[in-house]
Amino acid sequence: MSYTVTLIPGDGIGPEVAEATRRVLEATRLSFRWEVAEAGLAVMEKEGTPLPNSALESIRRNKVALKGPVTTPVGGGFRSVNVALRQALDLYACLRPCKTYPGVRTLYPQVDLVIVRENTEDLYSGIEFESGTKEAVQLQSLIAEATGQCIASDSAIGIKSISATASRRIVKFAFDYARAQGRRKVTAVHKANIMKASDGLFLRSAQEVAKDYPDVAFEDMLVDNMSMHLVQRPEDYDVLVLPNLYGDIISDLAAGLVGGLGLAPGANIGDDAAVFEPTHGSAPRYAGQNKVNPTAMILSGVMMLRHLGESKAAQMVETALAQVIAEGKDVTYDLKLRRDDPTAVGTSQMADAVIQHLRR
Ligand code: NAD
Repeated sequence: MSYTVTLIPGDGIGPEVAEATRRVLEATRLSFRWEVAEAGLAVMEKEGTPLPNSALESIRRNKVALKGPVTTPVGGGFRSVNVALRQALDLYACLRPCKTYPGVRTLYPQVDLVIVRENTEDLYSGIEFESGTKEAVQLQSLIAEATGQCIASDSAIGIKSISATASRRIVKFAFDYARAQGRRKVTAVHKANIMKASDGLFLRSAQEVAKDYPDVAFEDMLVDNMSMHLVQRPEDYDVLVLPNLYGDIISDLAAGLVGGLGLAPGANIGDDAAVFEPTHGSAPRYAGQNKVNPTAMILSGVMMLRHLGESKAAQMVETALAQVIAEGKDVTYDLKLRRDDPTAVGTSQMADAVIQHLRR
């Protein structure tokens, strides 16, 4: 069987971890035809857009993509390629498993969490108004009229929208995933005590959907409380389902529990396409140094193999990678006891070690 996959190397450390992953996936002896598509800073300079239509078309055609991270300028500059991609392809579910592998330095040896993050709305939809613009002033008057509350006149305004449709859809995804994977519990995470309308709607939608899954336990928790509980007793949790922004933040927290961003894979899944990418970003200060950990991207490749129905190959890669991590020899700096350990290997050498294990 041969698979045509859109490959977006991204920028910063993206091309290095993407290349490492491509080589590991090819070592499974499955056949891949990689349709390379550019996105991010470099293509912005060439084509005037960081997300050319050709990249979107390629994913629409192939229905599956492996993607490296892409830089998003802070403050000004272009909008996030990642947000645009998820919205354009309606990749509504962001799936981020966080599992501790033996050999990783962490205070939490038994974490096995899955974060399910809503990917299309919330404060992340990018509906924002700069302070002093005509639109910001209009909104201020509208809000004053509707609520009697005054927003400071020099405010920038961001819109948080949460719909019942998207909330139900993501919670259903979380329960279906939990059921399919034999998971025991889904926790809906929110701040409905304060954001009664928006987070309240998310919570009510979750409670409604949960009634259809009596075989999976359900609970809800405030996001601040969740943060503390995750740091104290992460093993008490299983599948977490969250609106977009909380999902983004809690994903990094969970990555920290299992050893850092170098170990946290992810997938953005919709009804018509899926894009597999690590949780981490483009870490520009490490770009081009053959230094960072390829594990998160390789594990994203493992998720892609499972999505393609290649569970045997997926298990082989995960086992080989887990062996390399457990041996602790051919691993990158972040997996060594000390970050300045001179025996740490580079991105590409760690991938070589995984490939050698696959060939044993
Ligand atoms: P980052 O995840 O790029 O890096 C933060 C730190 O995490 C790094 O300095 C490094 O210490 C560590 N790290 C990240 N990946 C690692 C790896 N593979 N191995 C070892 N250590 C690793 O976060 P940032 O610096 O906040 O963001 C940089 C850029 O990436 C920003 O422009 C941001 O918008 C973008 N970003 C993109 C995506 C994406 O493309 N999906 C996701 C997150 C951030």
